[in-house]
Amino acid sequence: MRNPTSRRTVLQGILASTLVTGFDVANSSWVTSASAISRFESLPRLDGVLYTDDKGLAAAANDFGNIVHRKPIAVLKPGSIQDIISIIQFARTYNINIAARGQGHSTDGQPQVDAGVVIDMTVLNKIHYVSADRAIVEAGVVWSQLLQKTLEQGLTPPVFTDYIELSIGGTLTVGGIGGATHRYGLQVDNIWELQVVTGEGELETCSQFQNRDLFEAVLAGLGQCGIIVQATIKLIKAATNARVFLLFYDDLATFTRDQRLVISDERFNFVEGQIVPKDNGGWRYMLEAASFYTDTATPNNDTLLAGLNYIRGTEQIQDKTYFDFINRLAQIVTFLKSIGTWSYPHPWLNLFVPGSVVESFIGEVVSTLTQADTGQGPVLLYPIKTNRLQLPLFRVPREEIVFLFSILRTATPPEDAVVKRMLADNRRLFEQNRDNGGYKYSVDALSFSPKDWQQHFHPVWRKLVSAKRRYDPNNLLAPGQGIFTSIMYQEKSA
Ligand SMILES: Cc1cc2nc3c(=O)[nH]c(=O)nc-3n(C[C@H](O)[C@H](O)[C@H](O)COP(=O)(O)OP(=O)(O)OC[C@H]3O[C@@H](n4cnc5c(N)ncnc54)[C@H](O)[C@@H]3O)c2cc1C
Repeated sequence: MRNPTSRRTVLQGILASTLVTGFDVANSSWVTSASAISRFESLPRLDGVLYTDDKGLAAAANDFGNIVHRKPIAVLKPGSIQDIISIIQFARTYNINIAARGQGHSTDGQPQVDAGVVIDMTVLNKIHYVSADRAIVEAGVVWSQLLQKTLEQGLTPPVFTDYIELSIGGTLTVGGIGGATHRYGLQVDNIWELQVVTGEGELETCSQFQNRDLFEAVLAGLGQCGIIVQATIKLIKAATNARVFLLFYDDLATFTRDQRLVISDERFNFVEGQIVPKDNGGWRYMLEAASFYTDTATPNNDTLLAGLNYIRGTEQIQDKTYFDFINRLAQIVTFLKSIGTWSYPHPWLNLFVPGSVVESFIGEVVSTLTQADTGQGPVLLYPIKTNRLQLPLFRVPREEIVFLFSILRTATPPEDAVVKRMLADNRRLFEQNRDNGGYKYSVDALSFSPKDWQQHFHPVWRKLVSAKRRYDPNNLLAPGQGIFTSIMYQEKSA
């Protein structure tokens, strides 16, 4: 049902805010004069509410990275999909930028928009339907919420990110990688269908079989062509338990050899790995693997560990419920929140390293890496098989096996100089990896020029540009990604 007070609330909000009251179409600039209010009078009737209060705007001008701050002029809490359509159509008329925001767990301002409108997707959080092979959900649903619901029917999505309080729309926009990716691909590879509101304000359904170009432009498309409002997600049968193995190595080559072995024979359901600090300084390697099972059908440890060359006697083996395993970061996050470091800046780096150079590249990085470089944040290193990845806009090196290498840095102490140093290091490592044929995973804090983006998306850059022109011709959506700057877009569209 439509909320009759929302339009008034909007106008009150805008009137109360002396920051920006309108957009001067003739001069293409934001204005604060009362004369511009009339332009906002044409706002459509909304089911939800458009907020302009300082607290809401300040929250939308930050994200988990806490590095970039861009202040919007309003935050829409949509009461319906129609609200998203209406606000985009309105934004088109006045050339106002729009950014969808899921959980805001980006690290570089990706869900932010300077002087535009942020659409808070968290309010679109209904799970509409669950059946044996699929769940139909609104894009603001978080993965933990979906898992709890599907487990009631003994079902699960095949792939989870390490942290499951991320929105479904947010991870489908970037890719969504995790320990099951070596078997099932990314989260974007496990989608039956999407509903998307394009930058033209049109609601479209897309899938492999219908509007495939939109489907492929939106999944891992960094929000450039549309806002995902609903997703139909593949489900598989869930196990009830997970047997978790932590295996330690002193030697990088032995570690990666074992990782390659276990992803190639798929003996585990989940495979990741970390570079962890040793008690007496330096680093060692930890293979993290899990075998899922149901009730008393417990896995055979000897079979699972056969042929692996971890340091004998250091292995840790533990049984958990499936849910607790998938939700394993929850406790750590609670702890980090309690000590305050969760809100420190997070200049994260995420790279895809070609398997052919992983030992030399990582070996060199680790030889100089210190805990001051990571700020006690985890360092991930794990392999995936590229033949499991289907979506063209998710860029990885052209090799059969590539490794995700992530330095999930916390700026400690949370000072500008530390952030600056970490960002510079991100760029340095990115360039080294790029020159080896590597890519970045676009969730990190890395300065990227339009030229970098073209190179990143090559050879599908033209495909992205043409989808952008078709579905977001006014270049309104997700400017925080910094892919299509307005100047560049004008040049390209000319
Ligand atoms: C603690 C932590 C652990 C993580 N672990 C992993 C991991 O294991 N694997 C992995 O792949 N990633 C991981 N990530 C990264 C995460 O997947 C991305 O940052 C993801 O985009 C965050 O989702 P979000 O809901 O917070 O999105 P936001 O940060 O809100 O948005 C991200 C981008 O998507 C856009 N967007 C958001 N919702 C929509 C929508 N409905 N339609 C269109 N565009 C939209 C935004 O405009 C923005 O450009 C992790 C992040 C954190 C903080």
